[in-house]
Amino acid sequence: MTMQNVGRPTRPEGSTETAGFQSLTGGRGLLQDEPLIFELDGWTKTGVDLPEPEADASDLAGLTRAGLELPGLSEPETMRHYVRLSQKNHAIDLALYPLGSCTMKHNPRLNEKAARMAGFADLHPLAPVGATQGALELMDRLSHWLKTLTGMPAVALSPKAGAHGELCGLLCIKAAHEAAGQGHRRTVLVPTSAHGTNPATAAFVGYNVTEIAQTPDGRVDLADLEAKLGDHVAAIMVTNPNTCGLFERDILDISRLTHAAGAYFYCDGANFNAIVGRVRPGDLGVDAMHINLHKTFSTPHGGGGPGAGPVVLSQALAAFAPAPWVVSGPDGLHLVEEAVDEAASAFGRMSAFHGQMGMFVRAYAYMRSHGADGLRQVAEDAVLNANYIKASLSDVMTPAFPDGPCMHEALFDDSWLDGTGVTTLDFAKAMIDEGFHPMTMYFPLVVHGAMLIEPTETESKRELDRFCHALRSLAATAKLGDVERFKNAPHLAPLRRLDETLAARKPKLTWRPEFPANQ
Ligand SMILES: *Cc1c(COP(=O)(O)O)cnc(C)c1O
Repeated sequence: MTMQNVGRPTRPEGSTETAGFQSLTGGRGLLQDEPLIFELDGWTKTGVDLPEPEADASDLAGLTRAGLELPGLSEPETMRHYVRLSQKNHAIDLALYPLGSCTMKHNPRLNEKAARMAGFADLHPLAPVGATQGALELMDRLSHWLKTLTGMPAVALSPKAGAHGELCGLLCIKAAHEAAGQGHRRTVLVPTSAHGTNPATAAFVGYNVTEIAQTPDGRVDLADLEAKLGDHVAAIMVTNPNTCGLFERDILDISRLTHAAGAYFYCDGANFNAIVGRVRPGDLGVDAMHINLHKTFSTPHGGGGPGAGPVVLSQALAAFAPAPWVVSGPDGLHLVEEAVDEAASAFGRMSAFHGQMGMFVRAYAYMRSHGADGLRQVAEDAVLNANYIKASLSDVMTPAFPDGPCMHEALFDDSWLDGTGVTTLDFAKAMIDEGFHPMTMYFPLVVHGAMLIEPTETESKRELDRFCHALRSLAATAKLGDVERFKNAPHLAPLRRLDETLAARKPKLTWRPEFPANQ
């Protein structure tokens, strides 16, 4: 077992034994083992030479600190530390990233170039409106594109992620009900296949959550929906295409029944990539929908990176949109920020300032470089690629909903692993040894041992074939009974089966060794 210099095991017992070969130092190929920055023994160094302060330090009346308690590394040590860590991360720039529901598409470098233009990158949120006309115009044009693509009359740009957009949408719905004397509506209906953020958001706003059942073919059960609608229901939250990768074919009935019951229709638009340019959610009767700009309109995301979740709103909800928004006047563009005049019904704000400007620039660059026809092609190719995967793997794995094509993601269950002793988790871990990031596992919850694969439109046929070949080979190995290959996977990763549940439930956010270390 390799020990770090503070005695923390780097790897589980025996994990350096790989295919009969064990590295003497913990290195692997040309990849280096790397401890935490606090373990690097760099407390007395600094990468910069600071001049002696001119002012007399005694001005600080004895409040000077002897040490900053920060790790101190030279510039080359710092570079190496972070480059070594970066090599332990998977990236969409390395290979297909099949996480279902996450839309891990290639991020065009043109977006990055636009986002780094000084006029956008160096803006300060408190800069006067007269100095930010270009940024406001970009926000206005982005709003126009979002409204046009969704067929909705209003948009709130400021929410900073999909889940934040859900919160924004439900707060609009709550404000609209209260304004109409319908504040007694306390229930939100959510299908069993929903992303966890949907019920979490509803609960956060103070609503009770009631589940809607699913039909055997993976859609909302209309009869169950009808039975659960009533004048206690504030809204339904439906994802379309849903998290099983299927289009809700009764979507018009869903919105008709919902509206007839006096409730609003919130659509989780995280899967907009499957229908962008082809279907306008406004035509489906949607009242509010967030758009994950970082998914459909491409921004590097994952690992908590920045996101943006603008919310488009129907006419019925438009008046309740949170400030701010851009309006044009005789003296140029400005922002409506106060709850007066046209903003009188706004429920408030989602955040300080106006949202994630860097995401807005990327999304707008993406829209303009694709054009309306290109965005439609995005949806078509995303669906084509997912169906290619579904068709290529359906003879060795079991599609959860075999009948008919899927939308932008292919969902398999684990019944094909029955009797092999291999679980979904084992199979996913073995994928890492083959050079592929695992797909989304065990979600949606309605499918046993779910494996949800979303290739996106930016994968070539060659890469899809490489991926399918890897999965087919692994599937064959599992069926031949080589359980050890799976139980101990990944064999080749620098770290292996970490206790992710413990890490999530009891994170050590401030761990570091005694200061100063090793002196
Ligand atoms: C990604 C996703 C969300 C949440 O979006 P974030 O930007 O991660 O907050 C909600 N619903 C579905 C279906 C998603 O895929």
